[in-house]
Amino acid sequence: MFDSLSGKLSGVFEGLSKRGKLSEDDVAEAMREVRLAMLDADVALPVVRDFTNKVRERAVGAEVLDSISPGQAVAKIVNDALIDALGGAGAVPLTLSAPAPIPFLMVGLQGSGKTTTSGKIALRLTNRERKKVLLASLDVQRPAAQLQLQQLAERAGVASLPIVPGQQPVEIARRAMEVGRREGYDVVILDTAGRLSIDEALMQEVRDVRAATSPAETLLVVDAMTGQDAVNTAQRFNEAVGITGVVMSRMDGDARGGAALSMRAITGAPIKLAGTGEKLEALEEFHPERVAGRILGLGDIAGLVEKASETIDQEESERLAKKMLAGKFDLDDYASQIRQINKLGSVSGILGMLPGMGKLKDVLESKDVDTAAIFRKQLAIISSMTKDERKTPAIIKASRKKRIAAGSGTSVQEVNKLLKQFDDMSTVMKRINKMGLGGMKKMLSG
Ligand code: GDP
Repeated sequence: MFDSLSGKLSGVFEGLSKRGKLSEDDVAEAMREVRLAMLDADVALPVVRDFTNKVRERAVGAEVLDSISPGQAVAKIVNDALIDALGGAGAVPLTLSAPAPIPFLMVGLQGSGKTTTSGKIALRLTNRERKKVLLASLDVQRPAAQLQLQQLAERAGVASLPIVPGQQPVEIARRAMEVGRREGYDVVILDTAGRLSIDEALMQEVRDVRAATSPAETLLVVDAMTGQDAVNTAQRFNEAVGITGVVMSRMDGDARGGAALSMRAITGAPIKLAGTGEKLEALEEFHPERVAGRILGLGDIAGLVEKASETIDQEESERLAKKMLAGKFDLDDYASQIRQINKLGSVSGILGMLPGMGKLKDVLESKDVDTAAIFRKQLAIISSMTKDERKTPAIIKASRKKRIAAGSGTSVQEVNKLLKQFDDMSTVMKRINKMGLGGMKKMLSG
């Protein structure tokens, strides 16, 4: 997502930074390019217009034109404007302050990812907020819909409302709330029926359910891949039933990102969450400042750390951290680390979250470097070493290297490469050690 927009914007700023002092014409020309890049990314026209006007106004201020690195100054202004367009800094949390059971109403078109998202939210509230969640499907249109939600709930380890054939949506919603009250649920997620297109009957149904349950949230699920259509859908749902937030699904796809950038301006509703995959864990808070950072290739360190802390085995990483701090990190630990990184998913995906790594990511992808294969090879090399060699890599001299290469079906060169990488890593760790944890935190939050 955002890849092409990101690439084009980087190009604009690179052009600016080569120029030294900027004239108004330079800024105007840059804004033309930004405008084209945004239109190309499917951002809604009024949003683009408003965006470039804002940036131009701020950029032609004397500050930028006279500043030492005007390219950077403009990039900062664009960054701020992106954050504004995405809804302002900070994720907007789900409303959890209402008296229990808190009803959440899920609305959206069929195929938008609504049912999956309902399950994802249920899992998230269960695991992170320690809430007791009940899922209920109000979809009596598609015969298998209620069953689908029930199975999803089972996969998520969350309760779902028993199915009573023949009940109508409003009755089901009332029953869900009743069960919620009686059995002490904190949150009741009501998954309404989706349609292929917006029709009056669907809107009326949503309004009826809403009147019967007074939901704390009416969350619209839209598919980021549908671009402008997602924004139109949101606008119409908002006018017809009023939404309190948007969940944008399929943010993991190669959508051009325009929907995310237009949503707030067109509907007034914040994007609260983003779906990033088919798995039930693939749901993230939507942080405009992080998304803006990704668009501008500034990386998303905070997101990376969060993802890492969710995926990586806590006990194991604490053990590794302790060994690092004690300066006792060896090749066995290195192997364990590789296994952990593998768990994080594609390496190029991780690179995309690191500042300035966007380009490297492109290179990796264009050359089709198979990082999983590299890791596999490294693990094979390490497992061909003796225990002593893994503990004290310094003893690995020429003859040992030959033996290890033969044993792992690699070459001495590859063994050298691994040892060098391990060495580099040890150096970085020593640096981090010197900085101390405080310095580390400062770096990550700064
Ligand atoms: P509904 O008709 O709106 O309830 O849509 P579903 O929840 O049944 O989802 C339709 C398809 O989209 C399913 O195959 C989901 O696995 C998939 N899906 C949902 N959310 C995401 C997402 O964030 N990323 C990806 N890649 N797929 C998703």
